Amino acid sequence: MSTEHTERLARQARERKDVPDDNARPVVEFDHVSKIYGGGAVAVEDVSLSFKRGEFAFIVGPTGCGKSTCMRLIIKEIEPTEGEVRIAGRSLSSLSRRKIPYLRRNIGVVFQDYKLLPNRNVYDNVAYGLHVIGASRADIRRKVPEILRLVGLASKTRNYPDELSGGEQQRVAVARAFVNHPPLLLADEPTGNLDPGTSIDIMRLLYRINRAGTTVLVATHDPGLVNKIRRRVIELERGLVIRDQQKGLYAVDESTQEFATRLREEEQEE
Ligand code: ADP
Ligand code: MG
Repeated sequence: MSTEHTERLARQARERKDVPDDNARPVVEFDHVSKIYGGGAVAVEDVSLSFKRGEFAFIVGPTGCGKSTCMRLIIKEIEPTEGEVRIAGRSLSSLSRRKIPYLRRNIGVVFQDYKLLPNRNVYDNVAYGLHVIGASRADIRRKVPEILRLVGLASKTRNYPDELSGGEQQRVAVARAFVNHPPLLLADEPTGNLDPGTSIDIMRLLYRINRAGTTVLVATHDPGLVNKIRRRVIELERGLVIRDQQKGLYAVDESTQEFATRLREEEQEE
C-alpha cells in the first residue's frame, strides 16, 4: 500500500470520526459495560467510566479483578456482553472489523512482557510499528532516533532485545507504542516484571508522555507504584468499580513525598 493511499485512508477515517481526535469528547467512555466470558466468568460488571483528554489514570486491583478485560475492550479485541464502549465519542459496537486498524493505530499499547520481536534490533522493533501503518521511510528515519532519545536508549539502537535489561526492553516497548504520538496510551501491568527502581523509571516515562498531551491508562496490581504518582485511581474488585478517586493514594511515606517533589520540580522546569 502506498503512503499516499494510507494517508488518504487515515484522513477519511478522521473525517468519519473513527479515530480519537475530537477534543470535546471524553477519549474513553464505558457506559454500563459488563463482560462475561464464554465459561461464564463475570470479568467486568456494570462499569461506567469516563476519561478526559490528557488524563493519567490507574486501574488497580488484584489479579483477576478485570483490568486487562477493560484494556481489551478499549482496543476492541473483545466485545462487551452488555453496555457500550466509546472512543472519542464513537461507539465501538458500530465500528466494523474493517475499521479496527484505524482505531488501533491511534492507541499505543504496552504489555507486561514487552512483546518485542526477538530477531530485530531496537531500531527495527520501533520502526516496524511505523512501517505497518504505512509511514514513509523518511518519516521512519526521522521519528525512530527521536523517540529512542526520548526513552534514553540512543546508545542501544543496534542491540537486540536479549542484550537489554528488562527495564530497557520495556523502554523499547514504550517507544514503539508512542512513536506515532497516539492520543491514547494503554499500559497493562507495564512494570509487572521489573524491580521497584526500574518500575519507577518506567512510570516516570509514562508520566512524561502524558505531560505531552497523551491520555495514559495504566493497569497495575502494585499499590506501591500508584502511591508514587498521585493521579486518578480506579479500583476494581471482582469486576466492579469500588473506588474512583481523583488523586489516589494508599499511604504517604517519605519516598512518595520525595518523588512527588521531584515530579513537581520537573514540571516547573518544562
Ligand atoms: P486482571 O487483568 O485484573 O488480572 P482479567 O481481566 O484478566 O483480570 O480477568 C478477569 C476475570 O475474567 C478473571 O476471573 C479471569 O479468569 C477471567 N478471564 C479473563 N480472560 C478470560 C478468557 N479469555 N476466558 C475466560 N475467562 C477469562
Ligand atoms: Mg491482567
